[in-house]
Amino acid sequence: MRSIFWHKNPYDLEKTENLFLEKIIENMLFHYENCQEYRELVESLGFGTERIRAITSLEEIPFIPTVYFKHHRLDSVPEHKLLTRATSSGTSGNKSMIGYDFPTLWRALGMVQSIGKVHHFWSIRPCHYIILGYEHKGFLWGSPRIEEKAVAKTAYGFTFFAPALSRTYALKYKDGDYVLNLEEVKKKLLQFSKGSTPVRIMGFPFHAYWLLTAMKEEGIFCPLPKGSMMAFGGGWKQYYTQRADKETMYALVKEVLDIPENMCREFFGAVEHPILYCDCPKHHFHIPIYSRVIIRDVDTLEPVPHGTPGLVNLLTPMISSAPILSIMTDDLGIVHDASECGCGIPAPYLEILGRVGMEDITTCAAGAQRYVQSMMMEDVK
Ligand SMILES: [Zn+2]
Repeated sequence: MRSIFWHKNPYDLEKTENLFLEKIIENMLFHYENCQEYRELVESLGFGTERIRAITSLEEIPFIPTVYFKHHRLDSVPEHKLLTRATSSGTSGNKSMIGYDFPTLWRALGMVQSIGKVHHFWSIRPCHYIILGYEHKGFLWGSPRIEEKAVAKTAYGFTFFAPALSRTYALKYKDGDYVLNLEEVKKKLLQFSKGSTPVRIMGFPFHAYWLLTAMKEEGIFCPLPKGSMMAFGGGWKQYYTQRADKETMYALVKEVLDIPENMCREFFGAVEHPILYCDCPKHHFHIPIYSRVIIRDVDTLEPVPHGTPGLVNLLTPMISSAPILSIMTDDLGIVHDASECGCGIPAPYLEILGRVGMEDITTCAAGAQRYVQSMMMEDVK
């Protein structure tokens, strides 16, 4: 069977367009048949097997707001088939949890290997890793009993692109909680800057920004060996207002660590949409063949053309363990034509503008439920 997840070129939209629609309908049918809550949800919108089979455009596929998953856990496979779970990194009590089965992880592996190839992550040269984030608690596809933040998994996964000589974490796991370990990170950076082994740093942009700003203020400069890399992931979350623009960030990375801009990468993804978006040399998130992005009008929820801002609706047929084929984030964004970037990647790219603060208006589970329903009803009008 043809798979888009093991397709060689992760941006070959042209050759995979029909296959994507075919796969997402197949995925929707699977969840319809295997997840009762999902079936009830889409049936309330008038979807049955026949109507699902008759879908001709992605816009027709109902979406579920991410906030819904913070209050409901939806699984389409039995518990014993889940190999691992990931939770969102929200600091409040409400977090999404998504379980992954083997077929999902297999597809994810195909995605990671070709995205890693196109964006030059794979290397046989060993390196030191510094993770400006949570320590990984178990094996990569660890025990399903261990709930873990998706970002911790992503960061740990990142340490396999090149052989790891060491892994240092800014947030260490200790007695059931995480403790800040920045002094150790600084010590390691100083130590590594004296050697010749490349260092790969991965972390939340705001952690990196705080650390580098503090180092600069303290007069600590650690030019890292050639081939070192800085990768940002996890987005800016609640720190949008303190957001440093990318130029400031790259200048800081260059000044404190001597890592050039072309060795800086950024990832984008969400626990409810675990697709690996990696920025291009011009720092744009081109949309890979594994997913599609529909921008919807904030009021009418109708799809808007490229270049127009709106709510970000993310679609992928990657996950068989949970019905997250079409999710509505609380991010505002714009999809731009590939030609606006000009880096050579033929796929359009997604620009995230910020967050709309949907959580503010959905304070309890019942509220969220009503919100989901009214939102979906709006959509089918
Ligand atoms: Zn580009």
